[in-house]
Amino acid sequence: MSTKAIRSKMPKTNSYIYEVRQLDQSINNHFNLLNKEIRLDGLTGLANRKTFDLTITEWLSDAIPFALILLDIDHFKKINDQFGHLIGDEVLTYTASKIRDFAGTHDLCFRYGGEEFGVLIKFGTIPAAVQMAEGLRKALASEASPTGSPIFVSIGVSVSAGKAEGAKEMIEMADKALYQSKTAGRNQTTVYEHMTTGRHD
Ligand code: GH3
Ligand code: MG
Ligand code: MG
Repeated sequence: MSTKAIRSKMPKTNSYIYEVRQLDQSINNHFNLLNKEIRLDGLTGLANRKTFDLTITEWLSDAIPFALILLDIDHFKKINDQFGHLIGDEVLTYTASKIRDFAGTHDLCFRYGGEEFGVLIKFGTIPAAVQMAEGLRKALASEASPTGSPIFVSIGVSVSAGKAEGAKEMIEMADKALYQSKTAGRNQTTVYEHMTTGRHD
């Protein structure tokens, strides 16, 4: 059930009694906090996987075309091993904030899990998604991260193209492209469509 639907089911309180109004306010605050916690990733503050699924479902039912960028930090295990988990966590938060810098206000930035992140680009086309992905990848590869050195990411891009792809299909396509970026040497972007037509970035 969407949070909008849950909220509309909550009884409206319009009492003259001060304590009742206080209680109502307190329940509302807790509801808002809980609502935020179930939608967001605890470490980075980006949307979580559940929000990603809900957003895709919503955009598909509204016939909104979109593109998906999926990225995975290269050799992240080595960062943890060399600098420790706390610095590893800082690298994740740093990556999340860079992703936010490159995404538009109507796009959804999310943490898919571990060291995998993504952006759902509303009305996104392949050229727009590639421009965003490459801008982000190059910025990460040229600026110092919390380790003191740049980090590298492998990226996969897919587009909804107005077809009835669900969250699962969109992720599968972007993931195949991402895997191609990994096997081709990491620190690069691959578009799913280019894979099927045999063209590569
Ligand atoms: P590749 O280039 O193939 O992606 O290699 P990789 O080392 O990045 O990938 P791998 O899947 O081997 O390792 C991912 C690591 O990410 C393992 C896991 O311990 C670490 N990790 C997952 N979530 C977190 C987290 O929240 N914080 C920290 N510090 N590490 C995490
Ligand atoms: Mg991974
Ligand atoms: Mg990785």
